[in-house]
Amino acid sequence: MSLKSEIAKPIDVLNMTLDELKKKLHAAGIELYRADQIHQWIFGKSVYEFDKMTNLSEDLRNRLKELFVIGIPKEVTREVSVGDKSVKLLLKLNEKDSVEAVYMPMKERRTICISSQVGCKFHCAFCASGQDGFFRNLKVGEILSQVLLARDLSPNKKISNIVFMGIGEPFDNYPELLKTIRMLNSKNALNIGARKITVSTCGIIPKIEMLAEEGLQVELSISLHGPNDSVRGALMPVNTAYPVKALIETCKKYVKKTGRAITFEYILVKGVNASDNEANQLARLLKGMLCKVNLIPYNPIAEFPHVAPTYEEVVRFQQILQKFGVKTTVRFSKGRDIQAACGQLRSVHQKREKRKDKR
Ligand code: SAH
Repeated sequence: MSLKSEIAKPIDVLNMTLDELKKKLHAAGIELYRADQIHQWIFGKSVYEFDKMTNLSEDLRNRLKELFVIGIPKEVTREVSVGDKSVKLLLKLNEKDSVEAVYMPMKERRTICISSQVGCKFHCAFCASGQDGFFRNLKVGEILSQVLLARDLSPNKKISNIVFMGIGEPFDNYPELLKTIRMLNSKNALNIGARKITVSTCGIIPKIEMLAEEGLQVELSISLHGPNDSVRGALMPVNTAYPVKALIETCKKYVKKTGRAITFEYILVKGVNASDNEANQLARLLKGMLCKVNLIPYNPIAEFPHVAPTYEEVVRFQQILQKFGVKTTVRFSKGRDIQAACGQLRSVHQKREKRKDKR
């Protein structure tokens, strides 16, 4: 593609690092420091329209509008949890595609949960995200804009943590994931420490190996959900390609290479993976490893008619792990009253839309 045709098509500023934006401005004959000003407006002041960037002349703003867009999606719905004040945003990227982002204020933290894909290929039985299949990967700007809009809900526009636990499998969109992490991390963009960013994966071994080589300080979470192939395989079809033993071996190598602990996410589903026997197997599997287990009582979805164990059963499961010296926390899902488990809001919205279509 010639440079001329490249700069003729509006480009999303949010897809570009500061250096990339500078290159584009240079090609268009615009001073480079304007890139710093644009980034300052977007990332520093949450201003997403060129017309509101008051230190740019009208001529320059018009020129920028010809060359670029600032791809901020439209908010379709916003649901606020009465229980824990988390806010779930359903964001429309274009006519067809929408994604979710959740803002979760806690005592000392303000966490944002973001999506990396529209839909998901991995069809975990308990998860609403993949029920309608996979549509496409998100671009860097489409991921960053979720962070920006959710950040705008926070007092002082301050956030402390980002988790890739929304819709999609981040490792299935690896190049965009890495660039997004670098921009979240960059002082010129969102300036969020890598240790405050958690990537959650269903366990794609080759990408865990790649991440180990990146020299990033991000937190890695593995969705495990079963201590052996039969339990895990029944919940997560990805287990056929990447079974439990191979996954744990890879995790051990990751810990050795990076010196960083791994968190294992374990949903507790009554009668499926939450018995004493499974707790003992899980404990033996992880014993001695630099890791933590995060127990998550299952948040029910219509497609998977099961329930979470009782509080006492969750505590009993936790105690078995602790007896083996495996560090364990229990995460009671945020925003249960607003369908905040992975993909639930989007899936409820789609069902409503389908019902409307039928009318
Ligand atoms: N694909 C990635 C990230 C998305 S899922 C992954 O598999 O890790 C993010 C987290 O939400 C995972 O730990 C997942 O297991 C959890 N989750 C999904 N559906 C849930 C439900 N119905 N109840 C509780 N947790 C759920």
